[in-house]
Amino acid sequence: MGHQISRRRFLECGAAASALAVVPLRTWGHPSYAMAGDELDFPLVDFHAHIESDFPLERAAQVAKERGVKFGVVEHGGFHQTLASDDDLKRYIERLSGQPFYKGMQAEGLDWMECFSKEAVAQLDFVLSDALTFPEKDGRLVRLWTSEAKVVDKQDFMDRYVDFIVRVISQEPIDIFANPTFLPEPIVAEYDALWTKERMAKVIAAAVKHEVAIEINSRYNIPSLAFIRAAKDAGVEFSFGSNAHGEEAGRLDYCLKVAKEIGLKRPDMFAPAPADKKPILRRTLARLGVGESHPS
Ligand SMILES: [Zn+2]
Repeated sequence: MGHQISRRRFLECGAAASALAVVPLRTWGHPSYAMAGDELDFPLVDFHAHIESDFPLERAAQVAKERGVKFGVVEHGGFHQTLASDDDLKRYIERLSGQPFYKGMQAEGLDWMECFSKEAVAQLDFVLSDALTFPEKDGRLVRLWTSEAKVVDKQDFMDRYVDFIVRVISQEPIDIFANPTFLPEPIVAEYDALWTKERMAKVIAAAVKHEVAIEINSRYNIPSLAFIRAAKDAGVEFSFGSNAHGEEAGRLDYCLKVAKEIGLKRPDMFAPAPADKKPILRRTLARLGVGESHPS
């Protein structure tokens, strides 16, 4: 399974830009969250900051500093992605060494693990994945954040989507489940009705079972407070993520609002696991035999 057009290339071509609620660039600098962060008992980290050709590491470091937010940077990994082999990972990690970032990967596809050895993946601080590349009934992979996403039967879509989310969390050895509860444009207005208690409970149970943190996403302002409350009560950990591909990295307004409203504390928050306790090492992988790997 692979993507004909990688998410990164798609975003670069600009077709998605109009669909995304991105705050205009502030050329005079970036508002700092240092004061807001002072009210928290945990460090402020954006664990979902994309590095791009027009948003290189040097610039990201500058923006992070201005905002008073540490960045966990991510590059796409998996078949046909920027990171597709151990060698790619090694070069990426070397490029990031000595830089003030957590080193992350945004995994693509349920089979990304087959591109790498476990040892190579464990060198990263974290891996995140989402369920936005959704397999339709006919096997087509639909990018839910684009106009490709058509919803014929809402309830049927939701049931299949929740099942897929549970698969992502259950099969992929990830640290963070990103863009959680995202809904495509045709049904986004019905978020509260479609994300029933039962559906939320399925996602939360999978996260608890597999010890996967759930991202509070400030690009789409998701998940809802109701979801975050239920997840917190179940003992789920959270990360903050902007899912920004440029100057908006580190914009965490929704995350801070939620943290305040729900009273998130250090024990509720994700922190990268020690090197020998990474999910890629800790979890039994459905698609691979124990100790087996298939470098591409
Ligand atoms: Zn992303």
